[in-house]
Amino acid sequence: MVTSHLQDQIQYAGQAEEMLQYIADNFEWTDAQARCVNYQAIGIAKQRLSDSRSIRTSKFMHGWLNIGTQKEKMGKDPLCPCCGKFNEDSLHLFQCKHTAMQKAFDNQMKTMQDSLLKDRVPRAVVNGFKSMIYHAAHREPPVYFGNESPFVQTAIELQESLGMEAILRGFHHIQWTETISKLWVALQAQQDRKTPNCKSPPELAVSLMAQVWDLFEALWSTRNEILHSPESALLQQIDRDCTEQFLEFKRNQTEWFRSTDHFMLDVSLNDFLSWPRDRRRSLLQTWERLKKVYSSENDAQLRVQQRIDTFFAIRVPPDRNDSDESYSLSDMSDSSDYTSLASDLSGDTILSFGVILSSDESICELRLPDGESMSSETSRIGWDMD
Ligand SMILES: [Zn+2]
Repeated sequence: MVTSHLQDQIQYAGQAEEMLQYIADNFEWTDAQARCVNYQAIGIAKQRLSDSRSIRTSKFMHGWLNIGTQKEKMGKDPLCPCCGKFNEDSLHLFQCKHTAMQKAFDNQMKTMQDSLLKDRVPRAVVNGFKSMIYHAAHREPPVYFGNESPFVQTAIELQESLGMEAILRGFHHIQWTETISKLWVALQAQQDRKTPNCKSPPELAVSLMAQVWDLFEALWSTRNEILHSPESALLQQIDRDCTEQFLEFKRNQTEWFRSTDHFMLDVSLNDFLSWPRDRRRSLLQTWERLKKVYSSENDAQLRVQQRIDTFFAIRVPPDRNDSDESYSLSDMSDSSDYTSLASDLSGDTILSFGVILSSDESICELRLPDGESMSSETSRIGWDMD
């Protein structure tokens, strides 16, 4: 096909199917659902954004923003930094009840209405479109948007078939263009085509998309202002967690730290609270490291102290089949039996028999004095010596 958009066509042929499959998987859409999104409008609207905003919008559309859901995957707190009551996902940005977030939403919805009507998007489409956004954001519209047009109703139903979030992310059904076309023609006829610079229906569908991204942008910047302000609910929660952790370390000082490290905990709560957040977190990380070191030292000591006779005394099963190739421990009742076993194996006494290297429910591994190691299935308690 010869086309003036050859580069676009080549790119489309190379990437479209893969992208469609990714989108279908990501939103759990069928192939047919993924294909009824107005990608042309997405492409045009994206080209009008700055590079940084375009990248941010893509992240938002596909759920890649660094918000609570992503943070949770890295073991961090997923709470909304604004209200501090719900885990933060893309949809919560629109639903958050924090006063500043609500205000940003309301202001942007007003701007959306003014802008779309100024572009001459038919009022019935503006009303239907806005009512869907209020619904998806779980918010009450300020006034009831009557819906007199069956065309708009069709667009709403088809958009709903993609899930309520799709309209917020900018995955708009192609039916919106069709609906605008139907109502727009009538509008043009009424106005005798005298309106200068009137946008075409496909252009108006781009305006709808641009408006939801403007709404996202307003909410995103408000959310980030709150996140980095002193009253951020998330930061307050982090501060509370830090203080609780500090007190827990102090309470368990004797059990968790070497006595030679106790001077490291010589910090008063008042001093701790007066420090900047980074310094407080850094101290807690140091304490955590010291605690781990002491804990692993204790574990190592316990492993060395484990005795071979006590180890087998617990694990010898009541009945087992002896064989010529293995040394049975079935009749061993005191340490002299272990000594004789050790003598049989190595010609030495149990004291020099070996050290348990590792053990679990089925295998016990021993290191012998000459440096060799051996293992046994503890279920039959026999020693394979070859
Ligand atoms: Zn919130």
